[in-house]
Amino acid sequence: MNQGDQSEIVLAEIACPICGSTRHRRHIETTDPLHGVGAVFQIVRCQDCRHIFMNPCPTDDSLAACYPTAYGPHASQMANDSATPPAESSNDAKPIQTKPLTTSSPWYLCSGFRRIPGLRKLYYWLTDTRSNYLPMPPTSTSRAIELGCATGGFLAKLVEAGWQAEGVELVESAAAESQREGLSVHVGTLQSAELSSNTYEASFAWMVIEHLPDPKAAFCEFHRILKHEGQFAFSVPNVSCWEPIVFGKNWYVWEVPRHLQYFGPRSLRPLLTECGFDDIQIVHQRNILNVIGSLGIALRRLRPNSKLAAWLIDCPNRFSMWWQLVLAPVAIFLAMIRQGGRLTVIARCNKPPVKPITHNEKQPSEPA
Ligand SMILES: [Zn+2]
Repeated sequence: MNQGDQSEIVLAEIACPICGSTRHRRHIETTDPLHGVGAVFQIVRCQDCRHIFMNPCPTDDSLAACYPTAYGPHASQMANDSATPPAESSNDAKPIQTKPLTTSSPWYLCSGFRRIPGLRKLYYWLTDTRSNYLPMPPTSTSRAIELGCATGGFLAKLVEAGWQAEGVELVESAAAESQREGLSVHVGTLQSAELSSNTYEASFAWMVIEHLPDPKAAFCEFHRILKHEGQFAFSVPNVSCWEPIVFGKNWYVWEVPRHLQYFGPRSLRPLLTECGFDDIQIVHQRNILNVIGSLGIALRRLRPNSKLAAWLIDCPNRFSMWWQLVLAPVAIFLAMIRQGGRLTVIARCNKPPVKPITHNEKQPSEPA
């Protein structure tokens, strides 16, 4: 995939992807400060359902041009998946449950420091960003699917946890890397993979939904392929927090033209319910990567050649353990007051879905 430019990206006016309304108001205009793709993009708010989305939106044929070759998630999966707490540190009632690390603990926990009571538990508590969710499979034949599995980092963890896991990945080079690792990956979209109905016990989509032109169709497709009471877990940026208000067009996760949808808890709950999910848990991540990236973008717009700006913008892709520890109190506080910049959502598939209208059901106005 080549670096996109404006000549390759065709934009088209669209209706609200959630409610179909054509009434919308401009929310913000911004450029792509991360990769310099295209020119100015407009983000609007639907005047009927309040959903925020990019409009005009890249056409289906233009979507590939929005992603530069160096686009991070295609090169390295789970870049900010820093520390996964071991089982003994996650035995409380937290909604995010993880499995033990197979790698060794950090060096400072393997030396004399380890004798300090509670240090290990404190470390894992501080570094648990709640950015993903890895349940244990209910049976040895339980199946899971991940949309946007990129190079297979999370998919490998699912397999390691005992799931019969499959991935779906649009980018051929990333999918090929997963396949070389022996992982089962469908190349294409969730719809083009033509997955069987009522098949999976769990489904995942980490920082993917905001990239989709039709997120409602994707939610319905997840509902179709999941078994009754199957889990659907995903993460998205949180447009309803303080970050976009303070940073404006410099908000790190506007990420035009790659992000097409912007969700908050109030827009996600009714949408998931409408698509057949219940028992919806919305967790604010303990994550301030958006803040660091936004500071970098603001500085770059003031001083385009600033090395500090470049460092801040790149920071979310290589966030060190030390920075995470230093900034953890701020991240934890923001999550506690439900102002996290990213959300992890877990919902349960409730079947059967709402009964569709059949041809035999006549409308009252129809003649007999
Ligand atoms: Zn709408």
